[in-house]
Amino acid sequence: MLVLVINSGSSSLKYQVRDVAAGSVLTEGLIEKIGMGNGGDGDGEIEGPRDHAEALEQVDAAIHAELGDLELGAVGHRVVHGGERFAEPVLIDNEITRAIERLNPLAPLHNPANVLGIRAITKKWPDLPQVAVFDTAFHRSLPEHAWRYAVPDSLYTNHGIRRYGFHGTSHEYVTHRAAALLDLPVDEFDGVIAHLGNGASVTAIRGGKSVDTSMGFTPLEGLVMGTRSGDLDPSILVFLGRSGWTPEDIDTMLNRESGLKGLAGNNDMRSVVNASEAGDAKASMALAVTSYRLAKYIGGYHVAVGGAKALVFTAGIGENSHQFRALVADKLGALGIALDAGLNSQRSKEPRVISTPGSAIPVLVVPTDEEQAIAEATAAVVRPAG
Ligand code: AMP
Repeated sequence: MLVLVINSGSSSLKYQVRDVAAGSVLTEGLIEKIGMGNGGDGDGEIEGPRDHAEALEQVDAAIHAELGDLELGAVGHRVVHGGERFAEPVLIDNEITRAIERLNPLAPLHNPANVLGIRAITKKWPDLPQVAVFDTAFHRSLPEHAWRYAVPDSLYTNHGIRRYGFHGTSHEYVTHRAAALLDLPVDEFDGVIAHLGNGASVTAIRGGKSVDTSMGFTPLEGLVMGTRSGDLDPSILVFLGRSGWTPEDIDTMLNRESGLKGLAGNNDMRSVVNASEAGDAKASMALAVTSYRLAKYIGGYHVAVGGAKALVFTAGIGENSHQFRALVADKLGALGIALDAGLNSQRSKEPRVISTPGSAIPVLVVPTDEEQAIAEATAAVVRPAG
């Protein structure tokens, strides 16, 4: 089956056409500056499509120019927030679209854009099945003691303030691939998955299910990321508010100016590693803070899963930065974890083991592929229905 995978943002639309069985990408692209153009009307064209419907026309034209006539079996949407309702991918109808829309307050930057993408496709191809694949869904298995914040119950009941977790599609995909690499049935896989990209989260997996994860009510909680702070004392926000910072100022500082960027002046791990190796003390401290925070989470999640059988690195940094993996592993001696320096520094696109035979548990690098995971989930939902 050919699946069009859509990641719809407020001003951008990323797409891929996937052959699910072959696991291949037939074509892909990115439409940007949505809502900023005039579609070529009037005097002088302003760049960018007028809206998501016009962006979709561009996607359609690009796909046909590249691949000619082809029959899409379904569309799979990456939807950021599925709230408490969605624990699995679902076939989209009007009621589901409205349910996703009702979750807008929980993901004000993302869910409205996902809904625009869904509606544009419903209008253009009313008969094409669409499936929503939620970033939060894999973490619906968190036990209550892991998702509760210790604040008055009314914050949860009135505002839905609890931990949801994100990157679920990636964590689930990597869990399955890691279990396969270790020759374990997925429901016997207990481990810790570190998804380290520009956004980063770590998940505790017990019996193949997520039992804790470092992102919370929003993707800000947890690890030190490219531009996000991760965990901090919430009183800092109160202090800043009393000092005259607005909620927008605080939001921008924590989400866009913190993390590696705040500590080292650069959000790109490659640059920070290079700077550190060239003797930049701030870059070295940024790496120390970031790797220490992750190592603490790994220790905690080793406890949460009752003894991990594997530690898995994935996403841009996890798959590519042998230096960062080594910094983290160096702090895990108490768990008996030891990397093989040669295996760690080898580059490969394949899932692989990078620990020594004597390491208490294997350390793996498993490449993630969220679009393939969305395409597979979409095909699995559509096939029984169709
Ligand atoms: P992602 O969000 O998964 O695309 O990951 C982005 C992060 O991966 C950035 O911090 C990049 O610097 C980092 N990254 C990508 N390639 C490499 C590499 N070869 N070595 C180190 N870091 C890398």
